Amino acid sequence: MTTTYQVHSDVAVITLDNPPVNGLNWQTRKECLSHLEKALADPSIHAMVLYGAGKAFCGGADIKEFGTPKAMQEPNLLSLILAFENAQKPLVAALHSVVMGGGLELSLACHYRVASPGCQIALPEVKLGLIPGAGGTQRLPRVLGVEVALNMIVSGEPVMSERLNMVPGQKLFDQMAVSSETLLDEAIEFARSVSADRPLPKVRDLKSRHPQGDAYFQFAKNMVKNSPQAKNLPAPLQAIDAVQQSTLLPMTQGLAYERERFLNLMWTPESRALRHLFGAQRNTSKIVDLDKNTPIRPIQKVGIIGAGTMGGGIAMNFLMAGLPITLLDTSQAALDKGVQTLTQNFQDRVHKGKLKADKLQAMLSALTTTLAYEDLSPCDLIIEAVFEDLSVKEKVFQALDACAKAGAILATNTSTLDVNAIAAFTKRPADVVGMHFFSPANVMKLLEVVRAKETSKDVLASVMALSKTIKKIAVVSGVCDGFIGNRMIEQYLRQAGFLLEEGCSPAQIDQAIERFGFAMGPFKMSDLAGNDIGWAIRQRRYVEKPQMKYSPMADLICPLGRFGQKTSAGWYDYKAGKRDAIHSPLVQKLLDDYRAEHALKARKISDEEIVQRLVFSLVNEGARILQEGIASKASDIDMVYITGYGFPIFRGGPMHYAQEFGLLNMIGAMQRFALNPKDDAQFWQPAALLQTLAHEGRTFADA
Ligand code: NAD
Repeated sequence: MTTTYQVHSDVAVITLDNPPVNGLNWQTRKECLSHLEKALADPSIHAMVLYGAGKAFCGGADIKEFGTPKAMQEPNLLSLILAFENAQKPLVAALHSVVMGGGLELSLACHYRVASPGCQIALPEVKLGLIPGAGGTQRLPRVLGVEVALNMIVSGEPVMSERLNMVPGQKLFDQMAVSSETLLDEAIEFARSVSADRPLPKVRDLKSRHPQGDAYFQFAKNMVKNSPQAKNLPAPLQAIDAVQQSTLLPMTQGLAYERERFLNLMWTPESRALRHLFGAQRNTSKIVDLDKNTPIRPIQKVGIIGAGTMGGGIAMNFLMAGLPITLLDTSQAALDKGVQTLTQNFQDRVHKGKLKADKLQAMLSALTTTLAYEDLSPCDLIIEAVFEDLSVKEKVFQALDACAKAGAILATNTSTLDVNAIAAFTKRPADVVGMHFFSPANVMKLLEVVRAKETSKDVLASVMALSKTIKKIAVVSGVCDGFIGNRMIEQYLRQAGFLLEEGCSPAQIDQAIERFGFAMGPFKMSDLAGNDIGWAIRQRRYVEKPQMKYSPMADLICPLGRFGQKTSAGWYDYKAGKRDAIHSPLVQKLLDDYRAEHALKARKISDEEIVQRLVFSLVNEGARILQEGIASKASDIDMVYITGYGFPIFRGGPMHYAQEFGLLNMIGAMQRFALNPKDDAQFWQPAALLQTLAHEGRTFADA
């Protein structure tokens, strides 16, 4: 059973009891309807209350049913809503904690609503590329007015019940309860007080209108069209359209309009991508061989070694989460510099209104600095962020092994070094794990958790749990050069180099991939990260993996000191202190001269080819990463690229995009690229897993 039915003398209470958020799946809907029929048929029942057990009133429809026949199986949400609205006895929704999506739509079909304070109310469908599909766009404007309802529907953000209760003339709540503890009793009492009221009020009988009529909706569309949230996504504009119809059409036609739009959006690639990512994010914490009940090591004190770019940013995350930090470096000067940068970053947040000044003081007083390893001994977790040099890491981990208390988790933030080797510097490799933060570490959402050969399960589970405390999206990666994200980006950057040889300019490549939706093209990205980093990696690669060919054109600019934004010159020119990439005639000449010298005939390359070559480079390496078990799920790779590399959200990540493109089609394109004389035929050898899946008609999700 996912619901209960209880009688409180003359009032029946129907309780949704389907943890975690009382989602309205078919079973729950069926039970709700039968409870409703029972209450209506019982002459001793005069009114009914709809309530939610546990941590939510109702979080909405069951996303697993989306787009499946189960969602429409009777009683579907629409027929349940009609049955509630047409009930011949008063029905009161008792709202608390979480009232979202289909849960809010169901409550709007009740005759009355009693809400507790602190209740989060939302129609978040837009975040899945949809609009509300069970009356939300028609009923919410009728109880909250067009503007408030429109803001909620277009943003998808929750609003607190207290705030909504202050909306002038609001008809969403008939009564505010004193507290969530007393809510049910108050709702029962309220139901009793209205049990004789007739006719029963229905939201559908209210009017939805805006004094400025269509002019207001045009204004709203103009605002939304140009906003970053709506860029490349059809749902926000369609949500405005649907709300506009609530002011123009009778209820039944408005509902039909909304439904048609909802169903059309369900099949758009954008909504499929967003729904995929919604599931992908939840699944990052599901690790096949990790039991849900794996014990978690408590983490109350954190040590960080290295007060540089990463150490400082990592410290900010923990301080913001209320955890005290001890920061260690080799000199007082390095510590002072680190603390100064960290303080400045926090102060910038205060100036931007993102942080309260008193919170800043509390955080700074939770920060201690030291030059002595003994001061790290009380720490439950110690993260190393020193120079990227194995011999330096060796000394640090030996010192840590000597000072850290038993059971402390020892983490490395290395980007490229072998975490198994680092773990072997200690006598406790089971306590060692990689925590690969991305720069700027206080801003970037992604955390690659690197599971080394001997990392214990409870260490892994503890770091995954901790990632939520510091508001990161953690993805588990096995040990390999570059882990998931950087290993894939290396192939993408190699391919960008081949494109240069064949005649593209850096700007042409950047613009093509940015039009595809990437936050930044490969050359702007390299200028931001520092071209010297890639240069050093390529020099190492020629020695380690001579078969991994690179275009020498990628190396033309570093010998001139053009390291990127930090030197105001890279693939582009930069004005001091500015980030705008300006065309560089010098770089253009370098590229032209190189092609002339090597008799390279530039050809015109389409944006489509540029995008496919860059994206499929990522996907092919992603498939190898999957077949080697470095990533355990394709959706984890998508999360890495969405949260760490600016891959367009509306395309769902590289693996999802390839799946939508068709794996056989992708292999066909790769075979064409392999014929390209200036490209590298070996580069386009499809990963074995990709071949298998494509030829067996399976998907990355089945891998
Ligand atoms: P950084 O040069 O800015 O800072 C390194 C700090 O470590 C300096 O303050 C230095 O004084 C200190 N240090 C050096 N040796 C030490 C020792 N033996 N004991 C204590 N402190 C010592 O470097 P960074 O960019 O912060 O990188 C740190 C680590 O993070 C590297 O392993 C790097 O690969 C990794 N990483 C960097 C980035 C990035 O974008 N910068 C991103 C992810 C991971």
